[in-house]
Amino acid sequence: MKYKLILLLAVIFTASCDQAPDVPSEENWYDVMPRASWAEYEQIDTGQDWFEVYKLTDNTYAIYEPNQWQEAISYLLLGTERAMLVDTLQGVGDLKAVTDKLTQLPIIVMNTHSHYDHVSSNYQYDTVYGLNMPYTANNAKGHTHDEIGGSMTPETIWKNLPDTFSFEFYESKAYEIDKFVADGEIIDLGGREIEVIYIPGHSPDSVILVDKQNRMMMTGDTFYPAPIYLYSDTASFQDFFMSAQIMFSNRNGIDFLLPGHNETMQSVDYLNELRAASLAIINPTTEFTQATGRRSYDFGAFSIIVKDPLDFGLRRGE
Ligand SMILES: [Zn+2]
Repeated sequence: MKYKLILLLAVIFTASCDQAPDVPSEENWYDVMPRASWAEYEQIDTGQDWFEVYKLTDNTYAIYEPNQWQEAISYLLLGTERAMLVDTLQGVGDLKAVTDKLTQLPIIVMNTHSHYDHVSSNYQYDTVYGLNMPYTANNAKGHTHDEIGGSMTPETIWKNLPDTFSFEFYESKAYEIDKFVADGEIIDLGGREIEVIYIPGHSPDSVILVDKQNRMMMTGDTFYPAPIYLYSDTASFQDFFMSAQIMFSNRNGIDFLLPGHNETMQSVDYLNELRAASLAIINPTTEFTQATGRRSYDFGAFSIIVKDPLDFGLRRGE
């Protein structure tokens, strides 16, 4: 999940589920659409209007949901023997119909983390990998309409909602995790190796997926060029602080970051900025915007929203 624009003082909805975002209060959140950066890539027609599909490289597709305010993105990575689907979006459109058009390879689903906006079509796939953690197992049980229905309303939709979709019954379906993967594990797709690196903070089960052969890193919600959430009950700035250093230390050989929302193929230089941001936040002289129970630190192309007081055990100067 993520913030759209500046919402700290304009929250109109708070769900009981710690993964349900505050819905946008702006009348036309979609006025920023379409985002120009997507036009750099070839768009593929899969016959599923809810999604926009872009060919990023010969063996990498982005599957994007620009019609809902979260603008979630999943990625289909093709090897020679298998494909990996990184995240499965919100369960609104028929994602399986899209991936069936793009590849006949067997698909492994691997999530950047288990928030509902990244896993809600997992149930459509036969093979799902995940971390062996209680947090992940609990999210795999799905989320009811009462927990997440408030984030999927007519106000959060721009266009092209599938005819089969019902706001009244929107939920995130349960799924099975077929294989546990560990920090540092390499998943071989055939001629393409994807390394799983544990980077908790945004959620307890966040990972980056590193593809050195194709010089890309899937960052989920731990980095995207927009306000980054670190304030939910299960988020941890202390964990994020360490994870920002881990991501920075894995930058060599990478050119592009592939985030979980808004825009894709971002410069790897953002890892330097993210590391600097993590250091700035623990410096008590750094300015921030105050809201109830939260602080927002602005770093230009992105900002970081943390808890107030800051959940960090080694605060310097205090
Ligand atoms: Zn998330």
